[in-house]
Amino acid sequence: MSFDYDLFVIGGGSGGVRAARVAAGENSAKVALAEEDRYGGTCVIRGCVPKKLMVFASEFSGTMQDAQAYGWHVKPGALDWNTFHGKLVAELDRLEGVYRNILKNNGVESFDQRAHVVDAHTVELADGTRKTAKHILIATGGHPVVPEFPGSDLAITSNEIFHLEKLPESILIVGGGYIASEFAGIMNGMGVKTTQFYRGAQILRGFDEEARGLICEEMRQNGIDVRLGTNVLEMTKDGDKIRVKATDGTEDQFDVVMYATGRAPNADNLGLEAVGVERGRKGEIVVDEYSQTGVPSIYAIGDVTDRVNLTPVAIREGMAFVETVFKANPTPVDHELIPTAIFTQPEFGTVGLSEEDAAAQEPVEVYATSFKPMQKAFAGGTQRVLMKLIVSQATRKVLGCHIVAPGAGEMIQLAGIAVKMGATKEDFDRTVAVHPVMAEELVTMRQPVRTA
Ligand code: NDP
Repeated sequence: MSFDYDLFVIGGGSGGVRAARVAAGENSAKVALAEEDRYGGTCVIRGCVPKKLMVFASEFSGTMQDAQAYGWHVKPGALDWNTFHGKLVAELDRLEGVYRNILKNNGVESFDQRAHVVDAHTVELADGTRKTAKHILIATGGHPVVPEFPGSDLAITSNEIFHLEKLPESILIVGGGYIASEFAGIMNGMGVKTTQFYRGAQILRGFDEEARGLICEEMRQNGIDVRLGTNVLEMTKDGDKIRVKATDGTEDQFDVVMYATGRAPNADNLGLEAVGVERGRKGEIVVDEYSQTGVPSIYAIGDVTDRVNLTPVAIREGMAFVETVFKANPTPVDHELIPTAIFTQPEFGTVGLSEEDAAAQEPVEVYATSFKPMQKAFAGGTQRVLMKLIVSQATRKVLGCHIVAPGAGEMIQLAGIAVKMGATKEDFDRTVAVHPVMAEELVTMRQPVRTA
């Protein structure tokens, strides 16, 4: 049977574009890709990239205070949102162009419209055109979810936060995950009076408790009103403001309320039910270790499969898919020991098990140190950093590494290599310290602070 294409990809985000490019460019496959929105997907257009640029923009307030303390004659001022936003929009346009060109230069045919699956080898575009393909790859990502409650339509999400008309005077951010905690720092640094509600006992559930505690404490020191054990009951419009009734009995007004209460897979209305592709409890597409669905010609990668929802993981899954399908080399995706950074202020880099998870698994030694970093301490800052290693008592392997510090994201990429290689505490110890840097503490901690 002959098909229009060897591969039809639905979704032009990080995972879909990578799979299409490698299948076409390196494997000479005939590839098409459909994208209904902007090329680059969540990460490039409304996620990691604009978020990190906003982190950079927001950090200057602290940098200017530090500069004064070091003796510089600088006058801290306000951020001109319009200037920043104009440059941000231009940069996102540039990056979208880069993504489009990657596809074009590798011979991928792209369709700027929505597509859905009709049968195991056919997709239909929004204009009604049908295309056949030997393989179909679904890489449609996810979207933010706002729970239903009175006034929930007044909330914005991370999709809208990048394109505010002006910087608000005050913002409420709801949620305690990556996105909520990162944007609390960003808004606060940009000079917005920032409140964060989290329904549980501590933000960043699932990560190392000591690290979460320090991050929350530092966020409060930086001026964010983090209210734990607090949720929204109802929201009403009050002139230009949003009036928020909370479960702690308070009632406050905010200019903007942003919900970051989780994301859901974009798997609706893709025709999956009709062809028999199974979906899980959260609506995600169920796949095996090779990203293959129950329908052998249909694969899915990235957030739509709700495995580990991170850009580099979606890219890995895309590469493994190409290796499996186009190089006849079945390659499962390794989801173990993924280092990751959370761009809270202070920044958090983490790989492997938290102290709590490791201790539940086997007897461990905990090595940890918390101190005032030189750069900040000299400027009179009270911020603390944390360096922490969780070590197996039986094998001496480092099971987890957690860093709360400026630049922790950069540090954890490198520590992640050692942990992934199975380095022991003694391997860390025989590495000579780099001096004077914060990360030298990772190789100079002699005594465990506790066993667990
Ligand atoms: P998360 O799932 O990480 O966090 C959702 C938060 O919202 C949790 O604190 C959760 O509370 C809370 N919540 C859920 N439902 C409700 C509700 N009905 N009312 C009040 N609070 C609620 O989602 P995010 O949106 O923060 O991030 C989505 C994913 O995006 C992450 O898991 C991550 O994979 C990815 N990401 C990665 C980044 C990075 O690598 N730096 C940055 C941003 C996103 P509870 O803990 O009690 O369930």
